[in-house]
Amino acid sequence: QDGERLQKVLARAGMGSRRACEELIEQGRVEINGAIVVEQGVRVDAGKDEIKVDGLTIASQSHVFFALNKPAGVVASMEDPDGRQCLGDYVQNRETRLFHVGRLDTETEGLILLTNHGELAHRLTHPRYGVRKTYLAAIQGPLPRDLGKRLKDGIRLEDGHARADHFRVVENTGKNYLVEVSLHEGRKHIVRRMLAEAGFPVERLVRTRFGPIALGDQKSGWLRRMTNTEVGMLM
Ligand code: URA
Repeated sequence: QDGERLQKVLARAGMGSRRACEELIEQGRVEINGAIVVEQGVRVDAGKDEIKVDGLTIASQSHVFFALNKPAGVVASMEDPDGRQCLGDYVQNRETRLFHVGRLDTETEGLILLTNHGELAHRLTHPRYGVRKTYLAAIQGPLPRDLGKRLKDGIRLEDGHARADHFRVVENTGKNYLVEVSLHEGRKHIVRRMLAEAGFPVERLVRTRFGPIALGDQKSGWLRRMTNTEVGMLM
């Protein structure tokens, strides 16, 4: 038989486990070429058939990648049931379903990647791949000389040790410091928790790099399409 099973194509596009995808079908949320399909086991050609979930085309062959400079106060999810500002507000009118690659705290600013390549989005945030992330944190000095060493040796947090693999002071006015921290960690609030535990609560946090992708001078709230070179480096 030609084609692939619909739930397999949905799962590959990042819509969840096979079982979760079967449920989407059961619930009448999946369309093939404009018609809702509720029976299981329908076969599709991911390259030719237009498959939609909740009215949005899922990735079949063509993948898109965006880099957003998320402003503070924006929730890092595509939709927010409470109507707060969220990532989805920055990508309206795009007809394909996008996933954000990892999370940022609502108060954290900076680089977050968006893609319709669900599988890659999951892979890039999996601890096994340990993508390196870089942050700029505003903290109050004076700083002890050994702060970098302490962060690199590992800070003990309630859910285990966390280690930075790079630390440097970027700016220093004597009182206000801007420090750069890189780590492979993805735990929630990790940079804020590490610095707070070391005695330096973070006043502002900006992610400047995600793996090979840099924020550069991209303005706050701006979305840009990643270059082919960047996409190649991510794969
Ligand atoms: N570490 C944090 O504390 N917050 C983020 O949003 C990301 C990393």
